Amino acid sequence: MSGTTATETDLAGLVAQAVDRRRNFAIISHPDAGKTTLTEKLLLYGGAIQQAGAVKARGEQRKVTSDWMELEKQRGISITSTVLQFDYDTTTINLLDTPGHQDFSEDTYRTLAAADNAVMLEDAAKGLEPQTRKLFEVCRMRNIPIFTFINKMDRPGREPLTLLDEIESELELTPWAVNWPIGSGEQFRGVIDRRSREVVLFSRAERGKQAAEQKLSLDDPALRELVEEELLDLAIEEMELLDAAGAELDIEMVHAGELTPVFFGSAMTNFGVRPFLDAFLEMAQRPIARSSSEGLIDPLREGFSGFVFKLQANMDPRHRDRVAFVRVCSGRFEKDMTVKHARTGKAIRLSRPQKLFGQDRAVVEDAYPGDVIGLNNPGMFSIGDTLYVGPKVEFEGIPCFSPEIFSWLRNPNPSAFKNFRKGVNELREEGAVQILYDTDESKRDPILAAVGQLQLEVVQHRLENEYGVETRLEPLGFQVARWVAGGWSELEKVGRIFNCKTVRDAWNRPVLLFKNEWNLNQLKEDHPDFELSNVAPVV
Ligand code: GDP
Repeated sequence: MSGTTATETDLAGLVAQAVDRRRNFAIISHPDAGKTTLTEKLLLYGGAIQQAGAVKARGEQRKVTSDWMELEKQRGISITSTVLQFDYDTTTINLLDTPGHQDFSEDTYRTLAAADNAVMLEDAAKGLEPQTRKLFEVCRMRNIPIFTFINKMDRPGREPLTLLDEIESELELTPWAVNWPIGSGEQFRGVIDRRSREVVLFSRAERGKQAAEQKLSLDDPALRELVEEELLDLAIEEMELLDAAGAELDIEMVHAGELTPVFFGSAMTNFGVRPFLDAFLEMAQRPIARSSSEGLIDPLREGFSGFVFKLQANMDPRHRDRVAFVRVCSGRFEKDMTVKHARTGKAIRLSRPQKLFGQDRAVVEDAYPGDVIGLNNPGMFSIGDTLYVGPKVEFEGIPCFSPEIFSWLRNPNPSAFKNFRKGVNELREEGAVQILYDTDESKRDPILAAVGQLQLEVVQHRLENEYGVETRLEPLGFQVARWVAGGWSELEKVGRIFNCKTVRDAWNRPVLLFKNEWNLNQLKEDHPDFELSNVAPVV
């Protein structure tokens, strides 16, 4: 190619190689399904063994790490997610941690905007649970591939076929069992790999210890000596049912988010985790092209580009430290690089990029598509911002997700009004919380709208610490929010809606608040053509 120097060719080769070896994913699950346990086991297989315990020990560490946000220390939880990067064989894996439990927030959703694959983790006894469903919906919006791990097979659980049916009927996602369990609970004997017809036997180890994994062929007569006839026959019969149903493991369908490979195992006993990881890496999507103002941006595009998907504030209150997490989308990121900030058009030199492993940070020298870097953010970055080198590109923004907790934010001290307003605006711009307003102009106090309770506490805490304003929260009794797709004119056509409060968002778009799903469904029944959305259109 004329005009291309040797170094440019080298760089393109380097990026292509890096993209080839990278896989990035997030785990979506409900609290207690075993995400921490599975994460630890996955890390054991990577080059991150010594840190593996750190995942669980977070609470302990927090006590000794004095420079973490006071609120985090008080609650002993992690407010924002981090990224775990580790190598396995020839692959570099980025596991994006999605906070759950009490620390569930919009960040949990936003993290999925940076993921190329998702692992849906279910407890075999519980099947699909609320938080998993919500996170699944976000994955569905972007059609990202879903890999299902059905955990705790060493404990009594629901029928495997029922669990598959539930995925199919409730998520409209075709399940394809990669392995099939022999028995469950006390009688869990192992799994049969449907593709290789190899059986991996489970033998109970001490709690927390790794179970032995003995492998033999399904046709090996010795198998019948080791496993009860009726359990084996039932598993084979069920497998035949699945074969007869006819679906195929179609990788294109997996990548389109229409078919989910399903694995059965037990994270705690480390049974089935390695085969899962191997199959996952075989099937998972590599860093994908992303939608932007300039069309799809290929990871091999010349020149770095990436977008901010999460902001973490005040990890160190002494420095008012803020970190912007950037998902690298194309090209090679290098330390000290000067990039363009798409929203403002400014050039910025990125001098202290960080790579994160749990809470340990190291300065990164370089990063590639699929990676996440942390940038110091003295207030210039917002959620969804694009950074790039070369021709201008601006990635599609990250939507506002449907809040479920609403509270008036009162400022009892009128003399602090200016700071109050400034703080509220800045925290909204940063994406810490969504802000809604009453349509009645005389009620000027903002309504905080959040996905998790913690978001409200963080806002109050930061208003006090960073803006010197003490505030009071006054909960509103609503739980469901929907944006009116057609705007104010469509809303007028519907006329009066009962059991519903109309508010406006920061862009003056109408939002309806309902006490519960039931009231929302009532409206849908009465006005089937009235279009509502549970995410706000990107501004
Ligand atoms: P998280 O809330 O999703 O991170 O769940 P944890 O990983 O903390 O696990 C919740 C509980 O389930 C813990 O007590 C784990 O020891 C237990 N657990 C996780 N995986 C398994 C499993 O495969 N079998 C059994 N019996 N218990 C498990």
